[in-house]
Amino acid sequence: MEGFRALPSVDQVLNGAEGAALVARHGRQAVREALRARLDEMRDAIRAGEDGTVLAARLPDLVAADLAARDRSRLRPMLNLTGTVLHTNLGRAILADEAVRAAITAMANPLALEFDLETGGRGQRDDHLRGLLVELTGAEDATIVNNNAAAVLIALNTLAGPGADGRQAVVSRGELIEIGGAFRMPDIMARAGAKLVEIGTTNRTHPRDYQAAITEETGVILKVHTSNYRIEGFTAEVQATELAGIARAAKVPLMNDLGAGSLVDLSHYGLRREPTVREAVAEGADLVTFSGDKLLGGPQAGFIVGRKDLIAAINRNPLKRAVRLDKIRIAALEATLKLYRDPDRLAERLPTLRMLARPMAEIAAQAQRLAPRVDAALRPFGFAAAPCPCVSQIGSGALPVDTIPSAGLRLTGQGGDAPDRLAVKLRALPMPVIGHIQGGALILDLRCLEDDATLTTALAAL
Ligand SMILES: *Cc1c(COP(=O)(O)O)cnc(C)c1O
Repeated sequence: MEGFRALPSVDQVLNGAEGAALVARHGRQAVREALRARLDEMRDAIRAGEDGTVLAARLPDLVAADLAARDRSRLRPMLNLTGTVLHTNLGRAILADEAVRAAITAMANPLALEFDLETGGRGQRDDHLRGLLVELTGAEDATIVNNNAAAVLIALNTLAGPGADGRQAVVSRGELIEIGGAFRMPDIMARAGAKLVEIGTTNRTHPRDYQAAITEETGVILKVHTSNYRIEGFTAEVQATELAGIARAAKVPLMNDLGAGSLVDLSHYGLRREPTVREAVAEGADLVTFSGDKLLGGPQAGFIVGRKDLIAAINRNPLKRAVRLDKIRIAALEATLKLYRDPDRLAERLPTLRMLARPMAEIAAQAQRLAPRVDAALRPFGFAAAPCPCVSQIGSGALPVDTIPSAGLRLTGQGGDAPDRLAVKLRALPMPVIGHIQGGALILDLRCLEDDATLTTALAAL
């Protein structure tokens, strides 16, 4: 039994063939540090009575594995088989190829971001999107910020923050929403410097509630799309058109925060109708806010469309500079918005819509096809797979109560903790596979799996 002398020195390994290969891949400093850490551990093990020769033989593989693990990104691609198409925790919308290419070009090249190619003078970054947004929504003007939360913040700050004519923002108690990630409407209003005036009740708000609340102090009437819940039963809300009439009569701007804000009528794609941005504009809202990475299917962004004078005021707000968009996302958004000019091909080219509109029969056939192969991959580990019906959701607060019939794989194993154990195993794959646990099984909803081979290849690494 050999002791410390069986262990190589750091330099011996670095100068050997295996060490050189690791250096070529990870750099000398990283390999040196990884070796030192493992050698320290091995010296402790020898002191505890282990065999140095045995330990030394394991060193190259251990260090290679340590370095590979260190290199692997937690942002690596994964399979979203949760059934939630726009999953906020998984990055929401997947971009269209056109948008990806535009983003890459923008990253790798100088471009006329704030430069007028005709005059050679200064241009404005929003100009690349303003025309498209006006065209697609029917609004007079548009401005673009970091996300919809920022859109709401800057719009409220402009209309009812310090320095605005009126400081109060009137909103129905039925619309004081909290969405995930600690975005609470009352908190955002407070940070925007607007004084919240709550009207009506949780389930019913009437025109007279708005009329009674409007004073000289009113800076804005806010309507919020209750995107992640629905109040049912004995309810009343004031429809946008009527509310627009009340706002106009009182000369107070009406802002409608749509949240998901679709640019197309989803009923054309077999989904339930969700108010479109164009409709919200036509109904008379002075400003409409919505997200870039929800139903629109682009990168993270927030849009504000509406009256020219109000958009100009928002653009003059010093906060605009703090919440502006970068060139990469502007380029991706321009390419995404251009896809909307051809509605006939939209469901082919925009992944969000393509996945939402996938016919149930196609997904069910895919589940039948994949079940035996997934079952074969899982058998050696004591799990089984069978096709099953399931339900998908749009996610990100769009049509929260509606589910879309879908199909998937039901993965089961021995013992009550089988779904959890399998979920851990699938998360640890080089290409992690994420499902959801329901009824004692791990369900993989196949709606977002556009290519069978992606799943079988991912599972081959088990
Ligand atoms: C999602 C949502 C927001 C926030 O949008 P982000 O783009 O996530 O910042 C604001 N309001 C409503 C109604 C929403 O649904």
